[in-house]
Amino acid sequence: MKIHEYQATEIFKKAGIPVISGRVATEVYDAALIADEIGYPVVLKSQVLVGGRGKAGGIKVVKDKHELEKTFQELKKLKIKGYPVEKILVVKAIDIKKEIYIGITIDSAKDDVVLIASAAGGVEIEETAKTNPDAIKKFYLQGEKEIDHHRWPVFIRSIFEDPAQKEAATKIFQNLVKVFFEYDCSIAEINPLVIDGKGQILAADAKINFDENAFFRHEELVKLRDLRYENPDELEAKEKGLSFVKLDGNVGCIVNGAGLAMATMDIVKLTGGSPDNFLDVGGSSNPEKVLNALKIILRNKNIKAILINIFGGITRCDDIAKGILEAKKQITMTVPLVVRLTGTNEKEAKELLAKNGLSTYSTMREAVDKVVELTKS
Ligand code: GDP
Ligand code: MN
Repeated sequence: MKIHEYQATEIFKKAGIPVISGRVATEVYDAALIADEIGYPVVLKSQVLVGGRGKAGGIKVVKDKHELEKTFQELKKLKIKGYPVEKILVVKAIDIKKEIYIGITIDSAKDDVVLIASAAGGVEIEETAKTNPDAIKKFYLQGEKEIDHHRWPVFIRSIFEDPAQKEAATKIFQNLVKVFFEYDCSIAEINPLVIDGKGQILAADAKINFDENAFFRHEELVKLRDLRYENPDELEAKEKGLSFVKLDGNVGCIVNGAGLAMATMDIVKLTGGSPDNFLDVGGSSNPEKVLNALKIILRNKNIKAILINIFGGITRCDDIAKGILEAKKQITMTVPLVVRLTGTNEKEAKELLAKNGLSTYSTMREAVDKVVELTKS
């Protein structure tokens, strides 16, 4: 889950990272009050959860109240990558001498947490990776939750020369590492980290992505969620107790068990098809879940066929069959269903479906071949 810059800034500030003073506003009179408090010039920063706000015209420096009022209204009308600007962060404008990128993320190929820095800050790191990969420096934590001071000097020297700045940047990195682990982040990033006219280092932007799987440890974070940026299908699935991840293919997948659901997507893909989603209806036998899953999947107009792949253990095949039949009563099935059932109460399920004119497969191979063939016709 992503949070807005003003929210991430609060977290960084609490962790002892030097941030630029300011507050968020939704109305122009609030913005003017904040600006009076901190003093002009100020920067108005559109709070949308997409990168490249600067380039899109979402970040503006204003020198007085008149300019603030005019610019605030203009920003409120702006759409950045399709997202409307509702909140605007008002911060003190600082005299930027240098922009640096720093960030922490997980390198899954190396199975390690990596600290990244680049003297070419301000631009998106993905862009630097393409145009100037040598400018990106990396420091692996090597399984630790803090910086190893023996290896650190080489890394920090590659970005900062001045001893005071090296020390300040090291503190910022240490605190960023703390935030990263304390909140179970997948990304914690400051871009740009700036050096101002006095040589001070400050965070001029703040980005955090949380690992939602750790939310059971962080109830307080759930309320930071901005629903406008969540996939509505995924939200609904969560409410209905389904583990659902939206992808961009055209084969709907309804599977029981996360492992089988992963394997099903792999095999669809390897057979030349393209899965629409990951979906685990869970181990329990509940016809309602199949019905809800079908409703969500059929909302995607690109769907060409749906594969129901059930390996009955605790899940009873006849309950799944009942869910399918109930769904057929309640919703118009606009695409063919390919059903593979095996395991507990398989016989009852197949009889039930056959009575209602639905044939089934016993092996995954046959079912996947069929469903992929249907997407090609
Ligand atoms: P992003 O484009 O969405 O990553 O938004 P940023 O917060 O990184 O802002 C983009 C750019 O605006 C930065 O790289 C800076 O050049 C500029 N900027 C941001 N904050 C300030 C500020 O306080 N003062 C000045 N002068 N420029 C700023
Ligand atoms: Mn930025």
